[in-house]
Order: sequence, then structure tokens, then C-alpha cells
Amino acid sequence: MRKYKAYCFDLDGTVYKGLKPVPEAKEFIDYLQQQGIEPFFVTNNAKMTSIQVQSKLHKIGIEAKSDHIMTSAIATARYVSEHFDHKNVKVLGDDGLRQALSEVGMKIVDHNPDVLVQGMNTEITYQMLADACYAIENGAAFVATNGDLKFPTEYGFAPGNGAMAELIHNVTDIAPIYIGKPAPYMLEIIQQQFHLQKEEMLMIGDNYDTDILAGIHYGIDTLHVNTGVTRTKEVLAKDRPPTYAIDSLREWIE
Ligand SMILES: [Mg+2]
Repeated sequence: MRKYKAYCFDLDGTVYKGLKPVPEAKEFIDYLQQQGIEPFFVTNNAKMTSIQVQSKLHKIGIEAKSDHIMTSAIATARYVSEHFDHKNVKVLGDDGLRQALSEVGMKIVDHNPDVLVQGMNTEITYQMLADACYAIENGAAFVATNGDLKFPTEYGFAPGNGAMAELIHNVTDIAPIYIGKPAPYMLEIIQQQFHLQKEEMLMIGDNYDTDILAGIHYGIDTLHVNTGVTRTKEVLAKDRPPTYAIDSLREWIE
């Protein structure tokens, strides 16, 4: 296999599953770090700050550098600060998103926002959804951290952020700008921040529709692992398959 400078790992289903590590991924990360290669972590999860992601990884024995952790909240904050001149944002999201927006100098307001920024919020109420719709109907732009419609839990599939965003879309007739994978914004920020060439980057993930497509859209190599959402067989049958499809990262340890 080829060597890369930037190994960009998805988290859930790739590095861990819930609270448990994926052992082969942990071994592969150890193997990279022994060679002085610090991996990147790229997650659509907008609830956690990079410090919270770092501490979750620490609990499963992985030491990650906080500036190598990219969440859809961080990328969304950067996108909003670069694309809108007016800085008043209304947030329908959690701590990770609020903190990321404050850090780039956005002002969080309740009324008359320029942008409605929507991210996963498990405390969401009918009133919050209605207020988000009113803000957009009154002219606020609509940006959402990620479009994942559902995610697996021990009880079954639960509504993901995209399910809430699409509800607002249906009411307002305004489609959100989605920032998380499969959009390439998070990979683009990593490339710019660390002055990488696209040939030096590899996106590693379990989900074809988010991880692998993000890499394909951005034009970097992709590696699919069979430890999560999409099975290898399905991935190989796609029109645009990943660069590599393997069972687990153990196959990549020499
Ligand atoms: Mg995943």
C-alpha cells in the first residue's frame, strides 16, 4: 500500500463503536504514531468540542492532538465566518457548535439572526424548531452541520441531525447548506491548515455515503473498512468505489 502524510479517520464505526474501541484501528493508529505520523480525526458529530473528542479517544487508549480533530461544528463555524459578512447567528445546536461559533467571533443571538446554524441537539423542542423556521422565513441563511438522517443506537435507528434539518427545509422551502461529510469542507480545512497536497491525504471510514464520498468529492484517496455501516460487498459494487476496501486496518500493518 501507499504511504500518506495525512490519515484522516472517521470516528464512529471506524475508530470506536459507542464506548468501545475498534481494536484493529487502535493498533493501526499506534503503528502510525510509532513512525511519527499523527493521525487526523474527522467527525460529523457536532455535539462534542475537540477537547471532548480528545478525552473520549484518551479513554480508549488513543492520544490525539486537539488540532488534529476536525468536527462538523468547527468546520461550520469557519464556513459561516468566511461566507457571511454579518455576524449575528441563531444556534439550534449543542455546546460544541456554540463554542466553535464563539471562537471564530460570531455573535449568538435569539432574535433577527443573519444566519440560522443548525446542529444536533437532543433537547430540541417544537418551539425551537418553529423559531428556527421563523428566522429563515424572515431572511436568515440556513446552514446545518451535517445531513445524517439517522444513526444506530442499541434500541434501533434514532433521528439524526439531517432529519431535523429536513423538517425545517420542508416547512420553509429553503434547503440548508450542509457542511459535514459527504461535503468536503472538513478535509479542505485540514489540507489548508497543514499545507498538504491532495495526494498526501487519505480518508478512512466505514460509511460509503459520508466518509468515502467526502474523500471522492474532494479528490483524495479513500479507504473503506468493513467495521461499521456499509459492507465491503456493497462498496465494491458502487459506480465510484473507494481506492481501497479492506476488512479491517490490521491488513495495513506491515
Ligand atoms: Mg462512521
